[in-house]
Amino acid sequence: MEHDHVRAVDTAVADALEGEIDRQETTLSMIASENHVSRAVLDAQSSALTNKYAEGYPGARYYGGCEYADEVEQLAIDRASELFGAEHVNVQPHSGTQANQAVYFATLEPGDKILSLDLTHGGHLSHGHPANFVGQLYTVEQYEVDPDTGYLDYEGLAEQAAAFEPDMIVSGYSAYPREVDWERIQAVADDVDALHLADIAHITGLVAAGVHESPVGVADFVTGSTHKTIRAGRGGIVMTTEEFADDIDSAVFPGGQGGPLMHNVAGKAVGFGEALEPEFVTYAEQTVANATVLGETLAEHGFSLVSGGTDNHLVLIDLRPSHPDTTGGDAEEALEEAGIVLNGNTVPGETRSAFNPSGIRAGTPGLTTRGFDEDDMRTVGDLIAQVINAPDDDAVIEETRAEVERLCSANPLYK
Ligand SMILES: *Cc1c(COP(=O)(O)O)cnc(C)c1O
Repeated sequence: MEHDHVRAVDTAVADALEGEIDRQETTLSMIASENHVSRAVLDAQSSALTNKYAEGYPGARYYGGCEYADEVEQLAIDRASELFGAEHVNVQPHSGTQANQAVYFATLEPGDKILSLDLTHGGHLSHGHPANFVGQLYTVEQYEVDPDTGYLDYEGLAEQAAAFEPDMIVSGYSAYPREVDWERIQAVADDVDALHLADIAHITGLVAAGVHESPVGVADFVTGSTHKTIRAGRGGIVMTTEEFADDIDSAVFPGGQGGPLMHNVAGKAVGFGEALEPEFVTYAEQTVANATVLGETLAEHGFSLVSGGTDNHLVLIDLRPSHPDTTGGDAEEALEEAGIVLNGNTVPGETRSAFNPSGIRAGTPGLTTRGFDEDDMRTVGDLIAQVINAPDDDAVIEETRAEVERLCSANPLYK
């Protein structure tokens, strides 16, 4: 068997892989759900564990030869338990979506009722959108943020829950820039005898570092993504109490998945180990400080921030008040040309559509990983403003692109 590296056997794929590293190296990754993992996590994820079948759980597998798979998975579990203070952790979900599916499958019957945040208000497809099987299998009603403030409307949620009587309330969001009061949502769930799933996909790293309040020990289930703020490589995780431990484990496997992606579980183990180091707290604090400065800078340039600012790693900008003729898609396109990669996003009270939204979402996890500080973020905010003020001006795009490259080479990634 050949053991050449990819470059020697497949130049087409090798070129694309190299292009991707170069793209990440020379552009500003500001998609709020993305981050850059360490070399160590990359190593673990591209390891020979990709060859290994390990259906089952450590010490109870359906195949032989699992001693190293067991070791790696147990490390991931132990480190996650320590990081989050969770009684039970399952590290096998292939992604955050699969983690949520496991919770629904473990606890609900088809037709049961889910109450979750509307997608255009910051929710997620896996919380019951009609295009996702969750929206088709269960009876879903959705709550919204307060259209005037952009904050969660906890009283409205309580009223809606009393009328709808859900079996499950889902909290945790994709585009919500504010601190979430888990206890308050738990109180609503208790009042209507519903289970509570807190999906911390975006803020897994902030919660691990203690810079956002933790729902672990409050909500019945906590799910997360491992590739976002926690930068532990692509995947998902479910945390719960001893009471639901067996139900969750069997809902992940064999309920919804086959063999675990052991190379990704290895990435999680390494990433969780990194997150246990004191430097990770500094990183998470800097991520939030950077988002705060980004928001302030954009506000100074006249942009309208949903909720007026941020408590976490992202800002959500409603372009309608300041740039009524520029859609989120227009802004996304012009910024990408200038080397700033983020996404058009719906905003509360959306008057366009999900394909042609009125806002943009920008996050700081990736830039903070490569060393950006508050001064850099002020520059980035200025750059974003100058592009959106003149999205069709080639000279502005070119000038911005040059400044982006300067910022990138000052803060190298994998070089
Ligand atoms: C990103 C995200 C997920 C998980 O997405 P995957 O792409 O499946 O990992 C789940 N819930 C929320 C709220 C998210 O933002």
